[in-house]
Amino acid sequence: MAKYYRLHDGPTNSESTSGKLSSIDYRAELNEQQYVAVTTPERVSLVIAGAGAGKTRVLTYRVAWLLDDGISPSQILLLTFTNKAAREMLDRVRNLVPVDLLSLWGGTFHAIGSRLLRRHAENLGFSRSFTILDGDDRKALIRHALANLKLDKIKRKQFPKAEVLSSIFSYADNTLRPLDETIELKYPYHYEHLSEISWVKDEYNRLKKESNAMDFDDLLMKSVELLDNNAFLRDLYRRKFRYILVDEYQDTNAIQERMIEALCGDGSHMMVVGDDSQSIYSWRGADVKHILEFSNRYPEAVTYKIETNYRSVPEILNFSNAAIAGNHNRIEKNLQSVRPSGNMKPAIVALNTSRLEARFVGQRIAELLEEGIEASEIAVLYRAHSHSMDVQMELTGRGIPFRVTSGIRFFEQAHIKDVLSFMRFASNGRDELAFRRIVGFLPGIGPVTSDKLWNQWQQYAEEAGNMGRLSMGTSYSVPTKARRNWDQLVVTMDELTPIDGIVPLPSAMIESIMEAMYDDFMKASYDDYEQRKMDVGQLVAFASQYESVEDFLELVSLLGNTDTEENNVPLTGKVTLSTIHQAKGLEWEVVFLIGLCDGMFPHALSVDSIDSENALEEERRLFYVGVTRAKDQLYLTYPRLAYSSYSSPLILPPSRFLEECPAELLEEWRVD
Ligand code: ATP
Ligand code: MG
Repeated sequence: MAKYYRLHDGPTNSESTSGKLSSIDYRAELNEQQYVAVTTPERVSLVIAGAGAGKTRVLTYRVAWLLDDGISPSQILLLTFTNKAAREMLDRVRNLVPVDLLSLWGGTFHAIGSRLLRRHAENLGFSRSFTILDGDDRKALIRHALANLKLDKIKRKQFPKAEVLSSIFSYADNTLRPLDETIELKYPYHYEHLSEISWVKDEYNRLKKESNAMDFDDLLMKSVELLDNNAFLRDLYRRKFRYILVDEYQDTNAIQERMIEALCGDGSHMMVVGDDSQSIYSWRGADVKHILEFSNRYPEAVTYKIETNYRSVPEILNFSNAAIAGNHNRIEKNLQSVRPSGNMKPAIVALNTSRLEARFVGQRIAELLEEGIEASEIAVLYRAHSHSMDVQMELTGRGIPFRVTSGIRFFEQAHIKDVLSFMRFASNGRDELAFRRIVGFLPGIGPVTSDKLWNQWQQYAEEAGNMGRLSMGTSYSVPTKARRNWDQLVVTMDELTPIDGIVPLPSAMIESIMEAMYDDFMKASYDDYEQRKMDVGQLVAFASQYESVEDFLELVSLLGNTDTEENNVPLTGKVTLSTIHQAKGLEWEVVFLIGLCDGMFPHALSVDSIDSENALEEERRLFYVGVTRAKDQLYLTYPRLAYSSYSSPLILPPSRFLEECPAELLEEWRVD
């Protein structure tokens, strides 16, 4: 049973002790409920509160409090939803407490998993320099496994494609469900292929191991495997991490839950914070029951509730409370605003088309900027990335700078991945995908030659104990027309491989790759060569912060994963365009929520899904996350009509989420 906590008489680590490092006045900077949570002496605690109540702030101050109490940073593990969030929280702590935080482990579950595995991969039969496969790499390798299955033509047509297989495997791994159950639940029409799908999964795992590579799910699965099977390491880390803190706990999935369990021993202290009403990642296996059933799982857990909202003006808060009221499956919370009235109710604005909707958004943003509101304090949020295109065009037309956090990411562009492949192969000679990618753009070398070369290289490498250089093999069979290019590649790769322990710097590696061959290749292959060259220049600048190529590659591959990560892009002076999923945990003075018609939001797929009741509740939580990002002004917009080239205009009903809310909480704006 959950214990409900009463107020303490005083703090556990008396603030008057002379040992305190910071000058934080915890009582003044936190409200009573937050203060109690921050200073709790309890071993396991759950902080549950609605959006904007200061959960993330509690965790930040909790870290400071622990440091003030003399806990070493190396004993703290901070798990956040994005690596950027961890960095921001630690930056805050650094400003509050003068302590070196290098030894504090903070980041996403994936980043922490990767850090563990970099130290101990040998225990699982991998080397520490294993490659991390991103989504594309993963699909390529699954395709390879699929090819090894040698299906006949007819069967191949019906068999799930690599993309679908990738989702099946991922869902099974993240929810810790057996494959048969996963397929039955999510892809019943593929059930007849169960035994072959299972074979492909094994084959894919074999290929990964052979290439010394792990995918994102492995970073979690293998970390758990490592700790489960190795009592020595498990105890070591359980003793190390005396304090485990988890933000956005409502979006953890089963494997992440297992990871916490593996790291958390009898002597560990754990604090998780979350809001069941903001659980929006069930499609990735997150399960709101982890937070709802937390106290059953950890009977000693103490639950703290925070009921004051600091983020939004009362007008927005009232609307937010109404927006989530339609959900049955939730913990009741009664949020009070501490802020004075903002003198403006959330505005509801209907426009005839999405083009006009975008024009309204653009014009209103221009006015707000004119009034002196910072661009970085304005966000346009939407259900799906494709809903943002009109606004992107409108803002471009008006010359209003913006950043899009939902589109194709820098590190996923082909030319960037090409350059990184050279580095990956130089750092891990067993990385077959990287090898094939590089060889693939040498003119005159097709898949057959590429196979041969790979096999020959493997043979040489094995003889040399996997330590070799590409130039070791002197008798590669290369077609005459490709000879010169191949020789050039061999020389280039040799330059990138360490000699006598001297390892080239990542930035120098990129420059060598460009000079030796890739610049020529780009020129010949892309009509936007100039732009791409600038991108590579940016990559060099980014890489120059790193001394080791492994560190650099690890960071890059983690960036490719998280949807939200946007590194080293200055945020000042830019309006943010983002999906709601990626806006989680963030806040802006002004928020536009666009595309609010039924079918767009809630998404048609959810409305029509087999499990539509749960799907709709998740959509409503997403809507709640969207509206609660706003501090001062909230605009809810939708188009009335949808045009398509082959039918007459379709009338779109406004989102049922708008209809559900009492009209007096909104202010209707009519736009000419
Ligand atoms: P979400 O559910 O969206 O993640 P949250 O509960 O994590 O929200 P925070 O982001 O920590 O909330 O806080 C919301 C805003 O309120 C922040 O700007 C934070 O600095 C501010 N805030 C929280 N608590 C206080 C406080 N006691 N005094 C002043 N400002 C506060
Ligand atoms: Mg938060």
